Amino acid sequence: MIQDNLLSGFPRAQLMSGATPLERLDRMSERVGIDLWLKRDDLTGLGFGGNKTRQLEFYLGDAQARGADTILITGAVQSNYVRSAAAAAARLGMKSVLQLEERVPDMGPEYYDSGNVLLAKILGSEHMSFPVGEDEEGADAALHARADALRAQGRNPYVIHLGLNHPPLGALGYVAAGQELCRQMRDFEAVVVPSGSGATHGGLLTGVRASGVAAPVFGVCVRRNSALQRERMATVLEKLSAILNVESPVSDNDINVWDGALAPGYGRLGPKTQTALEMMARTEGIFLDPVYTAKTFAGLLDLVQDNQIQEGQKVVMIHTGGVPALFGYRSALVGN
Ligand SMILES: *Cc1c(COP(=O)(O)O)cnc(C)c1O
Repeated sequence: MIQDNLLSGFPRAQLMSGATPLERLDRMSERVGIDLWLKRDDLTGLGFGGNKTRQLEFYLGDAQARGADTILITGAVQSNYVRSAAAAAARLGMKSVLQLEERVPDMGPEYYDSGNVLLAKILGSEHMSFPVGEDEEGADAALHARADALRAQGRNPYVIHLGLNHPPLGALGYVAAGQELCRQMRDFEAVVVPSGSGATHGGLLTGVRASGVAAPVFGVCVRRNSALQRERMATVLEKLSAILNVESPVSDNDINVWDGALAPGYGRLGPKTQTALEMMARTEGIFLDPVYTAKTFAGLLDLVQDNQIQEGQKVVMIHTGGVPALFGYRSALVGN
């Protein structure tokens, strides 16, 4: 087992309010036939919460250590990451530049002006747009061009990269989350988490294994199919153990991914996702988000159906937040 001080060498900005609650969902447990717990990372505290607060503690710690005064970041139009980064920058007295990419076709007008877009405007960030949504290197290059212009004006910019050829500092936040979870509970039999960039899934899996817990960690694909996501996870895990400078506690057959809830694609609300979102709200009074956590819960229901999670098992789902995006999906959710 790896020691507790795994993360002590990394600069870290304090953005979390504290450990997030781990709640049992009594009525949903009964409905689904498992012992279901929800780790409330929607309640991380800063600027509407969510998983990016944990990830940003390490990016902004690094930015502060380098004396940065401006954070640049790219994401989908309704990105929780860019909204959280803008909030974190504000908290630490830095400016932010947010680049929004066209990743999701055919959305209503509220997708472009409500939810996270509205929050980012309130936070006073500079906005840029990027015409395509599947070009991570291109999106990062556009951020660097803007960073160069800022540097020429005497500013000290810091780019949070999307592409995989950079150290996955954000995953460190989920190594910490995995350790935090295992301090709250050790006898769970499965964890279910969204798998997008893989920072959350990869970090959590590493933190859980480093804590000596062997339960499967299922990543529910929200962006790519299982084959592509499995490949991406192998890369993320390899890069993560490289920056941790330890032999990875994770083996190749620890990578569990499920893409049965991905259709019709990233950021798009299929009937299965919508049903899962409404079922959670109507059974527990808890809001999931349309892009990540409702898909993840739909995936959890699939895994029960598929017997990969068995009846009566103790299961933790990570609620990674994203709830402000609900307001950007009004037409998709309830029509016009
Ligand atoms: C970004 C995000 C995810 C995906 O996390 P990754 O670390 O990119 O895999 C999941 N849920 C929410 C709400 C997010 O904003």
